[in-house]
Amino acid sequence: MENTKTNNNDMTPEEFKKYGYQFIDWIADYLKNMNEYPVLAQINPGDVKNKLPKTPPAQKESMDEILKDVNEIIMPGMTHWNHPGFMAYFNSSASGPGILAELLSGAFNINGMNWKSCPSATELEEVVLNWLRQMLKLPENFWGIIYDGGSSSTMHAIAAAREYKQELEIRTKGMSGRNEVPRLRLYKSEHGHSSIDKGAITLGIGIECIKIIECDDEFKMIPTKLEEAINEDIKNGWLPFCVVGTVGTTSSTSIDPIDEIADICKKNNVWLHVDASHAGTAAIVPEYNHILKGCEKADSFVVNPHKWMFMPIDVSAFYTPHQEILKRTFSLVHEYLKTAQDNEVINYMDYGIQLGRRFRSLKLWFVIRYFGTEGIINILREHLRLGKLFAEWIDNDPNFERLAPAPLSTVCFRAISKFETDINQFNEKLMNEINKTGTIFLSHTKLNGKFTIRLVVSHIRSNEELVKQAWQIIKAKYNELNIRGN
Ligand code: PLP
Repeated sequence: MENTKTNNNDMTPEEFKKYGYQFIDWIADYLKNMNEYPVLAQINPGDVKNKLPKTPPAQKESMDEILKDVNEIIMPGMTHWNHPGFMAYFNSSASGPGILAELLSGAFNINGMNWKSCPSATELEEVVLNWLRQMLKLPENFWGIIYDGGSSSTMHAIAAAREYKQELEIRTKGMSGRNEVPRLRLYKSEHGHSSIDKGAITLGIGIECIKIIECDDEFKMIPTKLEEAINEDIKNGWLPFCVVGTVGTTSSTSIDPIDEIADICKKNNVWLHVDASHAGTAAIVPEYNHILKGCEKADSFVVNPHKWMFMPIDVSAFYTPHQEILKRTFSLVHEYLKTAQDNEVINYMDYGIQLGRRFRSLKLWFVIRYFGTEGIINILREHLRLGKLFAEWIDNDPNFERLAPAPLSTVCFRAISKFETDINQFNEKLMNEINKTGTIFLSHTKLNGKFTIRLVVSHIRSNEELVKQAWQIIKAKYNELNIRGN
């Protein structure tokens, strides 16, 4: 149906429908037949690049040709995050309604910089973030904004924490070459995410100005160590300005004692940011809401629905009771951005570094409505049950040992080899062999110097059969390696 008449240079509506239907069919089949693909791309570096032309095409190409290359060049280089065997990192698995919301967002292609530029985007963001806040049982005065990821959210939190020390006038005068500005100190635990350091780099705080607080043997920040560090720093002329606590650390999902940390922060007038990027979602389940104990005292809080709430990346929900401080940090309105409604509406551009903003709230809206809060709770509850079940299997098998508590659905473990002397190397080999099967994909971390394999149950398509299958593969590969080692 090649139509020579153009539609303002774009595809004609007929062509759009033809390929649109074809693409939706393609996506539906892809999601249905995901098991036919290896979850982890089984290719070498350069394999995709080498199949693509070095220069852009001067002449138009058909959608048929583009789709053919998706199948033949792109697909072999895909690691399939939507594959049910994806149990690595913290997943971002996309549900049908989440994918459709993304499609609609692309079609609208709005820029939600201020209310006027798209009132629906602004007001839907306000409403769905208020829904999510209620689902998490966070206080009513927590005001929300969507950023692109946990790293951005934390960077914005650190910027707001610095602006909270308004008397330093860093917004206007900067930090360098000013003897009157004390060295600012930021605190995180040994297990705090690397995005905290990146935020400090970006904002000119500097990596050396981050103090790493020791953890206990369950990988949780030790509050007394934090208090000691703050006191010591004050004595030495530092200005403590921000603590980042974590609910659900990346390696093991350990949960810092936020309640106690918050009291130390209040006492010292230090901003507390809570990074609950992955684990925060679990707090929607009533019997797990306790993981957010103390978060009501935080100055900012982040949870990423794109990690465990079944929507395509990128949706990171940031909350703060200090809406005005966040605005003071980032608002800069040039004449061309002023609108008649400025005094009565939210202009989200005032609360972050982004001016242009995607219609991300559609994904939250579609997903929450399609599943309902009860539906989401049921899926999460099952993940949490499966995580516990897998942890029990590890605990009951003498060939394996658990390396961290499993408070949620992430299990950290390693195998014990009878033949290999280097246990770290053995476990790395084991993980690579498991991943080579293409059926499941696991990732690793190091805990107390031990190579640790992580299995995460957080996928929209997870079920007990899949977790059992993963366990069978892990045991089979372990046996194979041990026999070879014998
Ligand atoms: N914080 C924690 C605890 C994380 O586990 C992650 C990523 O997994 C991040 C922050 C970074 O989130 P994002 O990838 O959305 O920037």
